[in-house]
Amino acid sequence: MTALDNTVSTAPTVTATFDSLSPINGDVVGTHPVHSAEDVEAAVARAREAAAWWSALSFDERAAHLNTWKSVITRRLPQLSELMHRETGKPHGDAMLEAALAIDHLNWAAGKAEKHLKRRRVSSGLLMVNQAAYVEYRPLGVVGVIGPWNYPVFTPMGSIAYALAAGNAVVFKPSEYTPGVGEFLARTFLESVGRPVLSVVTGYGETGAALCHAGVDKVAFTGSTATGKRVMAACAEHLVPVVIEAGGKDAVIVDTDADLEAAADATLWGACANAGQTCAGVERVYVHEKVYDDFLAVLVAKAKGLKAEDSATSQIGPITMPKQLDVIRSHIADALARGGRALVGGADAVGERYVQPTVLVDVPEDSLAITEETFGPTVTVAKVASMQEAVERTNNNKYALGSTVFAKKNGMDIAGQIRSGMTSINGVITFAGIPSLPFGGVGDSGFGRIHGPDGLREFTYAKAISRQRFKPALALTTFDRTEKADKQLVTMMTMMHGRASTLPKRSKKG
Ligand code: NDP
Repeated sequence: MTALDNTVSTAPTVTATFDSLSPINGDVVGTHPVHSAEDVEAAVARAREAAAWWSALSFDERAAHLNTWKSVITRRLPQLSELMHRETGKPHGDAMLEAALAIDHLNWAAGKAEKHLKRRRVSSGLLMVNQAAYVEYRPLGVVGVIGPWNYPVFTPMGSIAYALAAGNAVVFKPSEYTPGVGEFLARTFLESVGRPVLSVVTGYGETGAALCHAGVDKVAFTGSTATGKRVMAACAEHLVPVVIEAGGKDAVIVDTDADLEAAADATLWGACANAGQTCAGVERVYVHEKVYDDFLAVLVAKAKGLKAEDSATSQIGPITMPKQLDVIRSHIADALARGGRALVGGADAVGERYVQPTVLVDVPEDSLAITEETFGPTVTVAKVASMQEAVERTNNNKYALGSTVFAKKNGMDIAGQIRSGMTSINGVITFAGIPSLPFGGVGDSGFGRIHGPDGLREFTYAKAISRQRFKPALALTTFDRTEKADKQLVTMMTMMHGRASTLPKRSKKG
């Protein structure tokens, strides 16, 4: 791909370019423009024009356009997944799965926007009974989406699809590692819809920073917590609201009655799929002591059968971002130096491009492999005396994105005690594939939600309308208010709110 291919969505003044490289062999996958602050401002200005047209369409019309785009992406899935494979190194099958999930979200957002955003009547209450009350959710205008490389389609589409369906235009800055995927999305959108309601700007961090200053109405950022703080600070200068989807350190909890085979399988997949480069990937496991040995035996046996390598059949690809190799190496080294043991993988697991699956035990809770996001195919497994201890140790982390519980009887109870944005029971990361569920974190994992009705509303502002239906019996909002009206108000308020309340009886569980 050349810079010329990007003319769809870029300013003509661009001169500097950069290459995206294959993490498998270092080959140049594509050459892309480095968009300057002026280019980004121009892209936002064009998006604002497109937004005026887009927001004036009906929900049905927007849904029809989005469904056309959906079908174009779907028909080109093999091309898209090949591009994802080349830019990130992830296996073709994983790329296909990721894109398929994103298409499902696009379908949901297009189909459900009207239901969750259209004007609806709400109760006006006794005091304001003469009024009719309405609420509707209006698009913000132009949304800047800044995305990571690890799921270059699924992750930004969680913002893009929902922002578009809510009636906004979007300017998307993909990661410097996956610019081709970003361009693919903008190009197919333009082909499908004919107007640059979705456009892309490419470059390094500076281009993302420029987007925060370019006059957008909201920024949806997905990436590391450290960059998220920088994005938030930049947006604060203009009072631009932000959604921050940041890192994670997700745990799996395994209870005594869990299906251990399924728990081990899910743990391994959650830890090693996408070479462990998953925000909601499994990085820690807390297992009840009664089933710890059995669980570990299954997990270790399965992990030993998995290999990361440069082959067409490899289920684990390379580490996409070269500098992440040092982070993974340092977390394993720190765990081993503090008394941890590697039952699979270990100190030699980190190669030049690939990292082998690594299962660590006896790792102290204050070591890097437990406290910080590793973002590699590694997992720590710890023995706990009770599910309460498992929950406490799970919650004792600055990150709180997703979590997983394997249990039969108490799964829902345990899930309810975990402080995290999402929890899967007897499955891993399943919440991400359910379009009606909100996705997002707590604490250092960020705030705001994509996906589901919350994800649609994230890219809107609530508009309240009250309409007088008839003149009020009590005229309160006038300087002609009488003493009698004041007295009647007191009587009415006493009747409505003056009675002492009684505490509801607690259920046995409560
Ligand atoms: P980064 O934080 O490094 O980058 C994210 C995006 O921000 C990239 O497009 C990057 O551009 C851009 N950027 C960099 N600096 C700035 C800046 N100063 N202002 C504005 N934008 C900037 O994250 P990664 O790409 O490395 O992604 C991995 C991280 O993303 C992990 O921590 C992972 O957990 C998290 N993540 C979170 C998800 C969630 O939903 N919670 C989902 C997926 C990933 P460039 O690449 O050009 O530097």
